[in-house]
Amino acid sequence: MRYKVVIFDLFGTLVPYLSGQEYENMLEEMTASLPISRSAFQKAWDDTFGERARGIFSTIESNILYICEALRIKPARAQIEAATRRRIEFIRRALAPREDALETLCQLKSSGRKIGLISDCSCEVPLLWKGTPLSELIDEAVFSCEVLLTKPNPQIYLLACDRLGISPEDCLYVGDGGSDELGGAAEVGMSPVLIRVPTEDAGDGYRIDADKWEGQTISALSEVLPLVFDH
Ligand SMILES: [Mg+2]
Repeated sequence: MRYKVVIFDLFGTLVPYLSGQEYENMLEEMTASLPISRSAFQKAWDDTFGERARGIFSTIESNILYICEALRIKPARAQIEAATRRRIEFIRRALAPREDALETLCQLKSSGRKIGLISDCSCEVPLLWKGTPLSELIDEAVFSCEVLLTKPNPQIYLLACDRLGISPEDCLYVGDGGSDELGGAAEVGMSPVLIRVPTEDAGDGYRIDADKWEGQTISALSEVLPLVFDH
């Protein structure tokens, strides 16, 4: 068996990105709870993405408070809590699996493969993870905000391998190309595959691997199965 393990990215891979409009709505709703201008909040929120992914803000409340303090605004506790609830609801919706995700993962599992996840994400994801149907099918989930490492740092891939008890050469890595994740996976010895779903907008600026990628590409998650079973 060439690939004993398949490791997936989360956003844009096992779950589709919510639309830009839904992201805008989330910002609108978060801002509605706070004494702050929408544009100032959006800029600060986008600017603190890296800190969220690296686990510097261990709660959404602390991220919002940091932004408010930087903008010299003093929100009431209830306002922060309302904005936090709106953000958590957005992420809950964003964690709905792709159409063919659960079936694909079930087939991999029933063939005896292990399944891993490596996600650059903020603290809402591990908070909500156990309530998602994906969590029961994934043997090891590595969240950047918990391990304080982000892709493409080799250590985050090696940590996933360590937890799964396998070597990188045994892994197929599947991702939509955010965070230079495919190059990072290749660097440690995994076999990377780009997923690019034709009906989705790939021009969101996050998928920095995708445009320059010349390696193996799939257009649906179920296409992972022949890659794994034909070897
Ligand atoms: Mg992604």
